[in-house]
Order: sequence, then structure tokens, then C-alpha cells
Amino acid sequence: MKRGAIAAWAAFALAVPCSAQAGPLQTIQPVPAGVEMHVRMEAVILSDDDGGNPAGVLSLAQLREWIHVFNSSLRLSGAHIVIDFTERADLARVRNTAVNRLAHDSNGPAARLASHYPGKMVVFFRAYGPAGSGIGITGNGYTAYNPYVPLGSKDCKTGKESACSASYTVMPSVYCGTVVATDLVKPGRKYGPLGADRSGCGITNNQWYLYQNFGQLAHEGGHYLGLPHTFPGSYDFLSTPSALQSWYQGTPRTGTKRSIAIYDGDSPNGPLISDGSNLMSGWNFTVLDTLPDVGAHLFADNNLSMCRTETKTLKDSSGATIDFDGRGYTLHATYGGAVTLHFQPDKANVMSYFLCKRPMTYSPGQVATMRSVLVNDQQRNYLLCDDPRDSAFRRYINCSTGARVFHVIVPHGSTPPPNGHVYTRY
Ligand SMILES: [Zn+2]
Repeated sequence: MKRGAIAAWAAFALAVPCSAQAGPLQTIQPVPAGVEMHVRMEAVILSDDDGGNPAGVLSLAQLREWIHVFNSSLRLSGAHIVIDFTERADLARVRNTAVNRLAHDSNGPAARLASHYPGKMVVFFRAYGPAGSGIGITGNGYTAYNPYVPLGSKDCKTGKESACSASYTVMPSVYCGTVVATDLVKPGRKYGPLGADRSGCGITNNQWYLYQNFGQLAHEGGHYLGLPHTFPGSYDFLSTPSALQSWYQGTPRTGTKRSIAIYDGDSPNGPLISDGSNLMSGWNFTVLDTLPDVGAHLFADNNLSMCRTETKTLKDSSGATIDFDGRGYTLHATYGGAVTLHFQPDKANVMSYFLCKRPMTYSPGQVATMRSVLVNDQQRNYLLCDDPRDSAFRRYINCSTGARVFHVIVPHGSTPPPNGHVYTRY
């Protein structure tokens, strides 16, 4: 729903030096823990070029709830990172069919559109089809890691150049269509492990307890701030005894400390993916404290509750077995000799695919990683360099490196539409 008139366009750009010069010989001190970092988020609610699937799929209240949960997860985890969002300044509605239908493709147009919101964490909400329409929502969220060449910089003066680029996070915008089935319904027990669903989506339970995926932005935002999954790969594809057994290697990879860390997403070189995807390329993973986890599909695919897990043994033709109980599960496999591995995954971790706590939380290592990425990653530290609320951090960051030279300040109501797709903004 469009509210208010489109303001007259008044194009102007301000060159803003981002920090005091930080020369190569300057010693940059570590950022003190516990000092709050502010990250401004731009929510881009998309529709097709013809205005199809217009605003209204994602309500402002739903958007705010996703952001609220993200902030709650950060706060409860002691991250001291705050996601700032103000409807007037940080919400855009954009017509762009290619980006609206993003599904791990069309990175060029998407990166270019993301470059139009300098200094912000850009989140694309794809308004693909109204809930219940039967039209897909283009899959789940993800984050694309791109060079930061924002509008207003040397190589992106108008916003139309192919060099214009920024990272972005993709979310579905059909809020009520993002549902997680956690546990099998137990006779006589009305609610699942998280109590009643609070989404207002009118979700009803039948065979499974269902919850609107309230933590999805916290999860995708975790990726944006440099976090891998708690399990290996870009999705949890290990769901059989055979798959777990074939994944196992008894020795740690370079850079990991635990022999069963092979089941984690933890690695300085990114997860050891053989799922045929390159979706994690570009990341530099350093989280070392999340518990080994193979993913949540192992539960649902085998008709097991992910939160209050039943006692059950899985076998298949591989000869491997997995014993489940309420505490975790044990893999009995052969790899050279007999291998027994106990797993107690953190079912409350945001970066898992479990949904067993409201809100989900980040581990201390994940928190440290996010803070480090915000300061040190040149494709992220502009979030702190360019935000006046983070001015205290600039002495800890080399804000003068990278492609960023200056950026455009785009006041509310005066957005110059650099590519004709941005048609209103409030
Ligand atoms: Zn993920």
C-alpha cells in the first residue's frame, strides 16, 4: 500500500570523508568488547516491473517483528550490535522483476540495486506472490557477498554502471508463508515446544506443530555479518545414516581443532562443501565454538521431532545407524574401523536450522566473529564507517581502504531515482 505523495526529486550528493586518515603505519587497536555497534538496515520491498505482487505482502508490522527478533537475538547473546531501522528513512519499495525473482541468480542487477543504499545492510524482500496464491516465494533467504562499490563512488557515479555493487541479503516477503514444522503433534497437547504461534498468521497444527519462522532475518543477517551454518554446507543435506557415514573423516581439517568439526560449518576456508554449490564462496569463516551439527533435516526427514526428540534408531543399507534420544544422537559408522560419534547440537543457535527457542541466540564465537567482520571486512566495515552513531569506532577501523571514496547521503523524500526502478521511498 502506498502512503503519501511522492516528493519532488531533488538530486544532490554530498561527499563525506569517512574518517580521519588511517595510514599504513597507524596501529589500529582492537575494538573493546561491550561497546555498542549500530548497523543501519535498508529494507527493500520488491515487486515486478509492472507493479505486480505489490506492497502489502509484507506488512510493516511483520517487517518490524523480524527486525525486533533479530535485535533480541543479538541482545540476548551479548553481541552489542543493534540493527537500526526507521520506516521513514530506511524503507524502499522497488519495482524490479529480476531482483524480485532472485533465486541465487541475477547477482548483477541485485548487486547494482544494493549499491544504491550506501552505508547500509541491504535486505531484499521478494514480493513474489501473496500468501495462499500458490505462487512460490522464490525459496528461502540467503546473502550474496559482493564488492562494495556504492552509488556516489568513483566507479559508480550514476548508479547505472556495471561496477556498482554491494552485498545484500535476500528474504522472502511472504511472512506467513515461512513456516517451520518443529515437532510431531502429541495427543492432548495443544501447543508445541514454543507454546502458541504468535505471528498472527492463523497457523494451525495438524500432524506437526508449526511456527512462523520468526528468526529468519536473524539467521540471514547472521550470514550477512559473516557467520556460517552450525552444520556443513549451504543447506542441511545430511539426513540419512549413509550420508553421515560418507561425510565422516576422522582427522580435522587444517584450521579446525576438533575431529568431528568436519560436521560443523566452522572453517577458515569456508565449510567443506560437496553439496555441489558454491554458495559459500567469498566467506572467511572463523567460528570455532558451535557444537557439531549435521542439520535439522535429519530429524524432520525421519519423522522425528526436532525439539523434543523421540527415542528412535535409524538404519539403512550403508550399515551405519543413528540412535536418537531427548539429549542428542549417536552415529555408529565404519570408516576404516568402527566410529562412534555423539552429537548434542545447539538447538537454540540462530545459525542452525532448528527452531527450539524464542528468540534463538548466537554463540560467543559467533558474536566475536560478527564484531570482527564489522570492523575488519572491507565489504562490511562501511556499515560502521558511514554511520554517525558509530563514530567512536573509526579509530579502530581503516575506513579509507577499499573502493569506497565517499557516499551519497539520501535524505527522506528526495531520492534521485538512479535507474528508474526506484519509484518511491519512505
Ligand atoms: Zn542459512
